[in-house]
Amino acid sequence: MGCLFCNIIKGEVPSTKIYENERTYAFEDINPLAPVHILVISKTHIKNIDELEESNASVMADLFLAVREVARIKGIDADGYRVIINNGAAGGQVIWHLHVHVLGGLPDLGPMLAL
Ligand code: AMP
Ligand code: ZN
Repeated sequence: MGCLFCNIIKGEVPSTKIYENERTYAFEDINPLAPVHILVISKTHIKNIDELEESNASVMADLFLAVREVARIKGIDADGYRVIINNGAAGGQVIWHLHVHVLGGLPDLGPMLAL
């Protein structure tokens, strides 16, 4: 089966690239929940936060620096935006490759949680 997001990084599954550097890749979410909805992933496969340790923790800095670039590229940096990581089943994670959602493009994104 393999990992969908690893296959996107390899170019074996198509995606709309927004930003890329040596260690990260950012692309349009296929099912956008806001006018701007970008996913930022590490080129290193890490399942989620549970797999972070001292030796790979720099991945988080790489991801958030890429988030900043994405926000600039999409023009939502000045107004503000929301950053979400769904971690584990109860957190709503369905793709088991650590990723950051970047959501914006509205004057107000509404309540943090809609339970
Ligand atoms: P999560 O629930 O945090 O695991 O989020 C997975 C996200 O991946 C969802 O927002 C999906 O819409 C998105 N997604 C699934 N498949 C693709 C794909 N092929 N290209 C882009 N985004 C995808
Ligand atoms: Zn992967």
